[in-house]
Amino acid sequence: MKSSLVLAGAIAAAFVLIPALMKTHAADLPDTVTVRLAEANGEPGPAQTVPTVKKTDAEWRAQLGEEAFQVLRSQSTERPFCGTLLNNKKEGIYFCAGCDLPLFTSRHKFESGTGWPSFYGPFAKENVAEERDVTGGMVRTEIHCARCGGHLGHVFEDGPAPTGLRYCLNSVSLKFRSFDEIKAAKHRN
Ligand SMILES: [Zn+2]
Repeated sequence: MKSSLVLAGAIAAAFVLIPALMKTHAADLPDTVTVRLAEANGEPGPAQTVPTVKKTDAEWRAQLGEEAFQVLRSQSTERPFCGTLLNNKKEGIYFCAGCDLPLFTSRHKFESGTGWPSFYGPFAKENVAEERDVTGGMVRTEIHCARCGGHLGHVFEDGPAPTGLRYCLNSVSLKFRSFDEIKAAKHRN
């Protein structure tokens, strides 16, 4: 009897821990956020307030697929030197794979040697939000999409001039479109 109580307690404790480990930023999102969308020339437009994008885990999983879901909604990190955008040298914009917000551009991309796509600045500072991350025995600054809360990677203070910052990204968090595609089409948000 006593051991089954202990077991029940252990099971209850395990279930209490799961939501904490599965934490995403979705619950923290306000109803609206001020961001900058892309103009036809690929530059950031004026700051504007737009609704945030909120979905259930089931909806995100159906949209993203399992690999991107694990990174964007459960803060996993893809393995280095495996991402599809690491060696992408094309000129264009990297949009959020979750909600299509423009997050980074080829103008700020550099070869960091880390195995993950790296940028020395965001498309617009409003679009990439930061949060202190103490998981994995390290103190880091986590970055996520300001509109949908999707986890993108981390930002470190060992990047090149002029910012000295290194935004370290997961390829699956991003969707690339060339400046030509952006100019010709409707993919600016
Ligand atoms: Zn997003």
